[in-house]
Amino acid sequence: MNSQEFALHVVQKLQHAGFQALWAGGCVRDQLLGLAPKDYDVATLATPEQVRKIFGHKRTLPIGASFGVITVLGPKLADPIEVATFRRDAGYSDGRRPDSVQFTDAREDALRRDFTINGMFFDPVNETVLDFVGGKDDLASGLIRAIGDADKRIEEDKLRMLRGVRFAAKYGFSIENQTLHAIQQRASELSAVSNERIGAEMQRMLTDASRAKALELLRQTNLLPQVLLDKALLAGSEATWEMTLKNLAALRVADFCAAAAILVEPIATSVGVEKIADHWKLSNQQKKAIKFALTNKETLEVATNKPWSVIQPLLLSPFIESTLAVLEAVGEQQAQDNVSFLRKQLAGKSDQLDPLPLITGNDLIANGVQPGPAFKRLLEICRAKQLDGELKTSQEALDFVKDLSN
Ligand code: ATP
Ligand code: MG
Repeated sequence: MNSQEFALHVVQKLQHAGFQALWAGGCVRDQLLGLAPKDYDVATLATPEQVRKIFGHKRTLPIGASFGVITVLGPKLADPIEVATFRRDAGYSDGRRPDSVQFTDAREDALRRDFTINGMFFDPVNETVLDFVGGKDDLASGLIRAIGDADKRIEEDKLRMLRGVRFAAKYGFSIENQTLHAIQQRASELSAVSNERIGAEMQRMLTDASRAKALELLRQTNLLPQVLLDKALLAGSEATWEMTLKNLAALRVADFCAAAAILVEPIATSVGVEKIADHWKLSNQQKKAIKFALTNKETLEVATNKPWSVIQPLLLSPFIESTLAVLEAVGEQQAQDNVSFLRKQLAGKSDQLDPLPLITGNDLIANGVQPGPAFKRLLEICRAKQLDGELKTSQEALDFVKDLSN
């Protein structure tokens, strides 16, 4: 049973028990767009306790029960499914999460959702769409439209501003006028959203192939200075901005760190990578990957003009792939040739890329070199000369060390 079959099974079981049950939200949207849904959510009239009773305590997790959400575990090949009781959200005092929820019917559950294209239900048993919000029409016209009063919906939950931009970019849709206007007016209120959530949205936007469109929309909606902490990119020349968008569009892989490096490069000195990475709550690994790409891409794009002992350690870095992806997106012909060369080296035998050292610390000690400050440096010099082909055998390396020490 795959995820879709399991999602159908869950609905059937709830319906057999006498409760209305439907697929809801993103999966309905994706299905109508002819895309494979990432996951299936089920919405139902059954309360969380009733859902647990129907599927059994062993096969359910009550993690989100206070919002009316029960996770139903599936067979091996099927993802777990979140079954949510139809609900209305009561009050949003923090500009992000509802203060409490009340159980209700399908129509009201549709009205609490963010955008019309995300507000539809699908009954997989009768194969009918339940559309209380005009989602089908907006899907057909390619519009991201807030459900109900756009300004109020954005005011309730400011994260919706970034979600709206993300969906518009991803599906190549426009943001409907009132929704756009509400976002433009309230862009500065994004500060009510936690950095983790902002970062998560930025990661999704920048990973997707639609990243250039997303950035353009962030600028149009006045959200760009909020997510980049600065007006530098906006105040900078139009040409720099256009170039950034062009480079982002040219990135061929779903590599967030590569995209982030391209985006922050023009403001790396003014705002700083560190500050943006902290603002987005990136992991240390992500931060290092972005910095590595920005620090080393100029060396790597002329790799064949550099000593191999300079290039080889860079190729062994865990961050090399993102850096090469950046160069492939932004580089001129010379950079492309160099990347091809580097990729060949990477694909080659590992003992050629990273040969065993000709001599080790033990060899130095055996030859009377005392461990001390110069010790490590000697080994480094030998390693570089080995990689550059100036020392070919262990004996040559030892003779070289002895010469130096005398
Ligand atoms: P995807 O998972 O592909 O990003 P999705 O639409 O499934 O898109 P989720 O974040 O998984 O998005 O949320 C599932 C559904 O819950 C949405 O389709 C929407 O109906 C509703 N929803 C999610 N976040 C919000 C929000 N901030 N405000 C109102 N409704 C929301
Ligand atoms: Mg989803």
